[in-house]
Amino acid sequence: MIEEDSIAEGWQDLANCLGVDPDLFFPERGASTREAKEVCRGCVVRGDCLEYALQNSEKFGIWGGMSERERRRIRRQRALDRQAVIQVVAETKAIS
Ligand code: SF4
Repeated sequence: MIEEDSIAEGWQDLANCLGVDPDLFFPERGASTREAKEVCRGCVVRGDCLEYALQNSEKFGIWGGMSERERRRIRRQRALDRQAVIQVVAETKAIS
């Protein structure tokens, strides 16, 4: 979620959430994330936003249209993918 006064440059300039109430993107536990995700749905920098949140391990809020739980799932899957690649490389080296 991008706050208006924090904008410096880059993808954030194109954020759909510029000027939108930040509280929408940081709902109370158990509250609906639907409205925030609706704003993200049409955002042209959604991918950049999601990657930023993943790279910076953002623990709270909706980023790239995803909740922390959804981002955690992606991080877990990526970690598994990395392990699988490492395993394949190790096995390939062992064979050759
Ligand atoms: S994806 Fe959502 S939170 Fe991220 S910049 Fe776009 S509107 Fe804002």
